[in-house]
Amino acid sequence: MKKLATKYIHAGAEPDPSTGAIMTPIFQTSTYVQEAPGVNKGYEYARSQNPTRKALEDALAIIENAKYGLAFSSGVAATDAIIKLLAPGDEVIAANDMYGGTYRLFTKIFEKFGIKFIYVDTTDPANVKAAITGKTKLVWLETPTNPLMNITDIAAVAAITKAANVWLCVDNTFATPYLQNPLDLGADIVMHSATKYLGGHSDVIQGAIMVNDTGLREQLYFIQKSSGAVPGPFDCFLVLRGIKTLHLRMQQHSINGEKIAHWLRKHPKVKAVYWPGFEDSKGYAVAREQMRGFGGMISFELQNDTAEEVKRVLSATKLFSLAESLGGVESLINHPATMTHASIPREERIKNGLSDGLIRLSVGVEDADDLIEDLQQAIG
Ligand SMILES: *Cc1c(COP(=O)(O)O)cnc(C)c1O
Repeated sequence: MKKLATKYIHAGAEPDPSTGAIMTPIFQTSTYVQEAPGVNKGYEYARSQNPTRKALEDALAIIENAKYGLAFSSGVAATDAIIKLLAPGDEVIAANDMYGGTYRLFTKIFEKFGIKFIYVDTTDPANVKAAITGKTKLVWLETPTNPLMNITDIAAVAAITKAANVWLCVDNTFATPYLQNPLDLGADIVMHSATKYLGGHSDVIQGAIMVNDTGLREQLYFIQKSSGAVPGPFDCFLVLRGIKTLHLRMQQHSINGEKIAHWLRKHPKVKAVYWPGFEDSKGYAVAREQMRGFGGMISFELQNDTAEEVKRVLSATKLFSLAESLGGVESLINHPATMTHASIPREERIKNGLSDGLIRLSVGVEDADDLIEDLQQAIG
């Protein structure tokens, strides 16, 4: 197997057979001319098949060490497809700290179709085991979590789900395939918001699913073409291009993340910093084992966490732009309680440790000293 950098640059990329174009063309077409009814080149209608999407899906599989990749029109569309594997009466055990949009999709859309979601603290795999019933079909994990950077032992949970004959899905958006490969650790399904690090340039909305099991791939492909949440060819081209520099970007995100996490921790006005690379953090031993690095996502709380002070800092940065989303080359600052995680009820949020004052950073790949200077002038 090729080393990561080589894989990312060559993943899914074959020169175009008709022209030799080294980059996969953007096949902006809705349909394909057939020679006779049922006689075609493997492409019939672009909701079902598109060559640009095919190149991307091959690349998605390669970067996650998977057999199959599937691309969707957004991360939540990918999640939606996975939950559509289930039927009324089925139960899902999900992490109690996860992306707000996933929680909203589960509680506001799928609960009314009779699927039951049970939220547990997955950082202790025993909680997952205890929640499994005869109706459990799927365990849904995020690690590191958004935004508290909690770590769950994927291999330990996979041992539990395998024994119970339950699927394990890991939302690998935060770690990316460069830092963590859940299928290698025993997960059945990996999901990504490709909007974030895979695209990497804040210019596309897209989702991805990777699996090894052929039956699972067939079911997900059937859902993809039947429900139709497919990405357009131009968006597929952008994510294909993003993947080529994933390793370079993730190396720099991790270097900058480490510098900024340690700097924040020493800052007298900062109360707590959440970053999976601190040796004294709760999940460190597991993170070190299952990740190749710790990335550029950091959350922190100020000593003075009054609403006014938090708002002031959020508005005072100049390089860090105040925005939802993450994973682009430019640095972003976010207020989970009112922005990315506003769809989670306040009591739920607070119970799970997500305070009103928490600030989340997506550290970009600018010069780390400039980023620190920006935070210094904002925090004061
Ligand atoms: C953004 C995000 C999603 C949702 O993806 P979209 O592309 O915005 O639909 C899911 N999980 C995590 C961890 C995310 O950060």
